[in-house]
Amino acid sequence: MTDCIFCKIINRELPASIIHEDDHVIAFMDIQPVNPGHILVVPKVHKELIAEVDEDLTSRMFKIAAKINRAIRKSNIHSEGINYFLADGEAAGQEVFHTHLHIFPRFRNDGFGLRFSENYTQLPQREELDEICVTIKESME
Ligand code: 5GP
Ligand code: ZN
Repeated sequence: MTDCIFCKIINRELPASIIHEDDHVIAFMDIQPVNPGHILVVPKVHKELIAEVDEDLTSRMFKIAAKINRAIRKSNIHSEGINYFLADGEAAGQEVFHTHLHIFPRFRNDGFGLRFSENYTQLPQREELDEICVTIKESME
């Protein structure tokens, strides 16, 4: 895709610090890291949403993320834990519409966090969970 930042990185039209590349996946340093060591794992094929990526390629992305996870833990990059994050769609926080998996080191008091709604602490009834469970399950192939 011509105006996609990540396609431009893949095609070497924009610079990036590339940590991994094979025929199907590229991984590079995020330009605005949550913490040092923040990496994006990106399929080379231009797909907006992760569900549009075929399962083998999705598995490959997670395999590479696992390799990066181990490498971060082995390195001297400050990391007490690691987050995987994938914003799938604009409402989910996606800003670059070429699907990508974030992987970034976490440590106590690093300032990063997720914000929950006020009623998050009110747990739903089992019946509601069951109902939603069935609804989604019925849509599964
Ligand atoms: P999203 O919100 O779509 O999940 O995340 C997009 C990510 O892409 C952000 O973390 C942002 O910092 C990163 N990003 C945006 N533009 C560039 C760029 O030109 N180069 C790199 N390496 N990362 C970028
Ligand atoms: Zn793209």
